[in-house]
Amino acid sequence: MKVAYIDNKPYEIESGETILTFMKRYMGEKPVPTLCDAPNLDPFGSCRVCSVDVALEEGGKTKAMASCHSPISEGMYIQPHTPNIQKLRKNIIELVISDHPLLCLTCEVSGNCELQDVAATVGLRDVRYPEGANHLDTPKDLSHPYMTSDLSKCINCYRCIRACDEVQGEFVLSMGGRGFDTTIIKGLDQSFMDSDCVSCGACSQACPTSAISDIFQSKGVTATDTTRTICTYCGVGCNLEVSTSNGEILSIQAPYDAEVNQGHTCIKGRYAFKFYNHQDRLDSPMIKRNGDFEKVSWDEAYEYIATKLTGYKDEFGSDSIAGISSARCTNEENYLMQKFIRTVIGTNNIDGCARVCHSPTALGMQRTFGTGAATNSIDDLKDTNCIMVIGANPTDAHPVTGAKLKQFAMKADNVSIVIDPRRTELARYATHHLALRPGTNVALLNMMMYYIITENIGDDSFIENRTEGFEAFKEEILNIDIDALEEVTGVDRNQVKASAYAYATAPNAMSFHGLGVTEHSQGTFTVMQIADLALLTGNIGRRGVGVNPLRGQNNVQGSADMGVQPHQGAGYLDVTNDEVNKKYNEFYGVEVPKEIGYKIPEMFDAALEGKLKALWVIGEDIVQTDPNTKKVIKAMEATDLVIVQELFMTETAKYADVILPGASFLEKSGTFTNGERRVQAVRQVVDPIPGSKPDGQIIVDIMNKMGYAQADYTPDGMLEEISQIVPFFAGISWDRLGKNGMQWPVAKDGTETQILHTVDFKRGKGYFEFNAWEETQELVSHAKEFPYILTTNRELEHYNCGAMTRRTANEEILQDDYLMINPDDAVENLINDGDYVCLESPRGKVDVKARITDEVKKGVLSTTFHFPEIMINNLTGDVHDSEAMCPEYKVVAVRLRRSKGKFKQVLADK
Ligand code: SF4
Repeated sequence: MKVAYIDNKPYEIESGETILTFMKRYMGEKPVPTLCDAPNLDPFGSCRVCSVDVALEEGGKTKAMASCHSPISEGMYIQPHTPNIQKLRKNIIELVISDHPLLCLTCEVSGNCELQDVAATVGLRDVRYPEGANHLDTPKDLSHPYMTSDLSKCINCYRCIRACDEVQGEFVLSMGGRGFDTTIIKGLDQSFMDSDCVSCGACSQACPTSAISDIFQSKGVTATDTTRTICTYCGVGCNLEVSTSNGEILSIQAPYDAEVNQGHTCIKGRYAFKFYNHQDRLDSPMIKRNGDFEKVSWDEAYEYIATKLTGYKDEFGSDSIAGISSARCTNEENYLMQKFIRTVIGTNNIDGCARVCHSPTALGMQRTFGTGAATNSIDDLKDTNCIMVIGANPTDAHPVTGAKLKQFAMKADNVSIVIDPRRTELARYATHHLALRPGTNVALLNMMMYYIITENIGDDSFIENRTEGFEAFKEEILNIDIDALEEVTGVDRNQVKASAYAYATAPNAMSFHGLGVTEHSQGTFTVMQIADLALLTGNIGRRGVGVNPLRGQNNVQGSADMGVQPHQGAGYLDVTNDEVNKKYNEFYGVEVPKEIGYKIPEMFDAALEGKLKALWVIGEDIVQTDPNTKKVIKAMEATDLVIVQELFMTETAKYADVILPGASFLEKSGTFTNGERRVQAVRQVVDPIPGSKPDGQIIVDIMNKMGYAQADYTPDGMLEEISQIVPFFAGISWDRLGKNGMQWPVAKDGTETQILHTVDFKRGKGYFEFNAWEETQELVSHAKEFPYILTTNRELEHYNCGAMTRRTANEEILQDDYLMINPDDAVENLINDGDYVCLESPRGKVDVKARITDEVKKGVLSTTFHFPEIMINNLTGDVHDSEAMCPEYKVVAVRLRRSKGKFKQVLADK
């Protein structure tokens, strides 16, 4: 056993630890004062406050060493608090304080200031130095809607700079000037607002004083409570610590002990919370009478809905009613909604937003592996050598995971492959960027697999032992026409070959994919190819490998797990299977239907055919976010009863007959499941605003009203029920979730699962299936008349329809949708940066502002869809994935011209 000594007592050392971490293991969290050290940053050793005396023999000559970055070694004798060291620390802090405003009483962080604490710990009472040159009149930076700086309080500890570099990877903050003029600068010595700051707040959380802070003063001590919950925006599932006082939310910080986000968030999680009590919140049930919404009581609304639904059920049958549940809601609420539709209404017409995002992922991975969820965890990045990111822009859409992927890509020894038509931020750091033409994923991945097979760099033993269907697959792959595929993809075959080689020969390779894979006519086939690539190279079933879909909304994984799908009930059980049907009937105590229900696009078709009489939509703005807006509106208008359960008067809510005001994630409890199958506790922070109710309770109320005895909504009670019917939730209970949740499948004894398919696949063997590339019908039918390809993308600041983020100060940072257009295309069409461009597709026209950039190739356009004023989905069409019916948002045939903004929408005021 190797030991070192603290105050002459021996303690075992661990390899790789510093003197500080060694002392922490035996002396507690704060063995010595520190300033430049932070839990989520690498050791730095700038402030020297953590210095300790170190000798190499007992009673030997000592040397002061900064403990935070000095490695421990065998036989060291450490004396943390000798008089010499105490004097040194006091002197350091005295020098720091000599250039620091002594305004503790009025400082926002008084009582929670690390400098104040350290000064007290070292016993500093006054400063011996006379007043001299100082930085006390440094002007404040109040330019940004969230971030502020007052560098008169800066102690040059570099924590903010390191957070910007090591956590976010943005490199916006740095140290400028020389000697006494050394100071923190943003960008090219700009303000926060003018710099490239992405407003993640990592610097403000890292700052030990209030030199960098936020407008919510999140390090102030006015909060009376903090509640740990989960972010409502994307599928990363960041943990948040929400501070409150008198039932008001003050600010949000990120807990360092969160396994998902380790003290980090993006702008949305940390700052975009003010929508929760915005004046636009719906605060009463409403029924539309004579074209106007009238406020009614909950009882009246329930009576109205129950009477209408019972009437349709009796007259037209259960299948005349459908429900769309919400990835914004908790697992328990989604479970209840599908239970209501199946048991009370008696139909499988239940679907959710996975239909328009990752339904091809679930289907494709189920076909290849047997399970449609991420195989590994983001933490596996620590043990991989190669990442392949396809059809995803994680630094905007999944920012905390995106920051980790970017950190990976920036390291010299790592290999990263980005397959995306756009030169995304990640693509700029990638070893290989394959900028393919939108709609050719299948062609490109078949080329990669061709090279892996012909170069004989696959994993033969894995193929032999764990897969089936390989010989037939190989035969097809060897027959592909590389010349033709090179031409359609627009990617040099040597680049494809090099990427295939990098992925196949890396000791461990992970893939990540997003909506640029799924929202295509061949979305499911592309997912199957990504899974095939993992089978072909043995990159499955251990740490640091796997297929990892970047799930879009916060609980899109959970809503599908809970049965928000027309073909699978809770736990992905096939509704048409007799055994499953028997199990559901017994469990629910009523007959549940066996026929597969409508998917969302089929609901719209049924409405237009007069077959759908009632549609209940929870937390989903289908008018703004589903393709072919005009068709969706017609479907809404053709449906007798549209019930919308929402926070705000969205574009969809405007077409409702009944509106039910739901509650935001801050006002209710339950669980969300993130993209790595992690079920995490969402804890209520404040009461629902007056007039609204938790969505789960609304569904319970209507179930009871319609004669099904359902207990009141409580997260522990619902989880108890779910654990009895969803096999992979068997061991999940509210009490077991703890701080960091549990990754399913969870066995009855509470054993969770970080990695899937370690020994077998759910379907037994991994299945190879070849699919040839086919041009999308959108281009086959319209490319001649509409020669440009429009694809869609997200922006960091807003989320989907923007109903929440547009009601926060995020709107001050990004106020408009815009169109990315290549400089050559801009010249050809006489378009200048900032001009309005009229985009026209076979479905309609919109006007959007141009941003000229070489992020997109000639012939390709890309735009966001966050603002109802633009309504980009007026352009998108009905082409969808051949297997899962996910709409093809990513390939739209358009033409363009400079315009005056005449077609700038319109529907927002309707
Ligand atoms: Fe929320 Fe996603 Fe941002 Fe995390 S990365 S704070 S989950 S939006």
